[in-house]
Amino acid sequence: MGKKNNDTTHCSFCGRSSQEVNMLITGVSAEICDSCAEQAYLIVKENFEAKKQSELGIEKSTLPSPQKIKEYLDGYIIGQDNAKRYLAVAVYNHYKRILQGKDDDIEIEKSNIIMVGPTGTGKTLLARTIAKLLHVPFAIVDATVLTEAGYVGEDIESILTRLLQASDYDVASAERGIVFIDEIDKIARKSDNPSITRDVSGEGVQQGLLKLLEGSIVNVPPQGGRKHPDQKMIAVDTRNILFICGGAFDGIERKIAQRLNTMVVGYASTKNNAIVDRENLLQYVAPQDLKAFGLIPEIIGRLPILTYLDSLDRSALRRILTEPKNSIIKQYVKLFQMDEVELTFDEDVFEYIVDKAIEYKLGARGLRSIVETIMMDAMFNIPSTKKKKLHITKDYATDQLEKSQVIKLKNSH
Ligand code: ADP
Repeated sequence: MGKKNNDTTHCSFCGRSSQEVNMLITGVSAEICDSCAEQAYLIVKENFEAKKQSELGIEKSTLPSPQKIKEYLDGYIIGQDNAKRYLAVAVYNHYKRILQGKDDDIEIEKSNIIMVGPTGTGKTLLARTIAKLLHVPFAIVDATVLTEAGYVGEDIESILTRLLQASDYDVASAERGIVFIDEIDKIARKSDNPSITRDVSGEGVQQGLLKLLEGSIVNVPPQGGRKHPDQKMIAVDTRNILFICGGAFDGIERKIAQRLNTMVVGYASTKNNAIVDRENLLQYVAPQDLKAFGLIPEIIGRLPILTYLDSLDRSALRRILTEPKNSIIKQYVKLFQMDEVELTFDEDVFEYIVDKAIEYKLGARGLRSIVETIMMDAMFNIPSTKKKKLHITKDYATDQLEKSQVIKLKNSH
């Protein structure tokens, strides 16, 4: 151990004498003063952190701010401002947490996310877009196929198999990836879903999920499933994996309404009550509602960021068709461009497509299949012709769609 030196020994680093410094620590063949020791410590710490950051592939200086993350999301997803803001902050904090020094007393907790919103409103798209921005491995899993170990279906660990596959079995990279668990509402307790014939309660699956969400070392079968019983397991640490869960939670509005009603009763004066927007109750979703729906409190606790998605109205559908960076229409224009054909549309074609998507109650997912049907003949024929331009009018679109419906109707007889 070092000791204070009283004679005129000098610091081997700065050359100052023992009288000039507060403290001089003596080693086997050298001395170091307190300020040089402090300097040395800072250099070591900085280096250590830089090394850690480069291992992560993320640096604090290049980590996009929440506003930048939201701007990026805006390029691909229409509307859903609330979800975007929550997601941006959660992801930003998640990476700050990963970059945090180990010797810090204040340990930042993981910010797993749960998104509640009707199907086809952009939950998966949001999660996928975030993963793309951060260049981290991304896996989507469907909670409905998960069962407790020992039952037919997939073990909870298979979630991580997907992530390993997405990262080409680079464990370190998988360990900072993002997993999107879809249909989390389908593993709610007391499910009255008649399609569940096995005796596998959602609660058991939820318990299994907890282990992953809270961060632990999990042994993962690299090929997944139980078809390869003798495969060697890979240990994956889930501490820094960000879990984003999504679900439609059909009927949760009733639970929200119930809670809001009791709150109203609870407050004596009604004049202070904010006006409740009864048409869009999802915006008031709170952890209690998830509990009332059948998620166990432990799971809810591990998904501290709760946000919602709006259902898509007519104007949102219209924007989705053409505005996102890789909008459906832009994709078709690109496809034709690759054959050196310039594809253009009359404005009212877009209105027509949106009308049909609403009429068939297909939402945003329907937009693609409608455009696909309209473009089918052209995509089949154009590459064999010398045509350099293709303009789609409403009449053409109507013809194509009606023709295909007639065929479908005929086939169904
Ligand atoms: P969810 O996960 O909520 O069921 P998805 O994210 O899979 O829905 O959405 C289905 C498809 O619909 C997406 O791939 C995208 O093409 C389109 N879509 C849905 N919502 C939006 C949105 N808000 N902005 C842009 N496209 C959207």
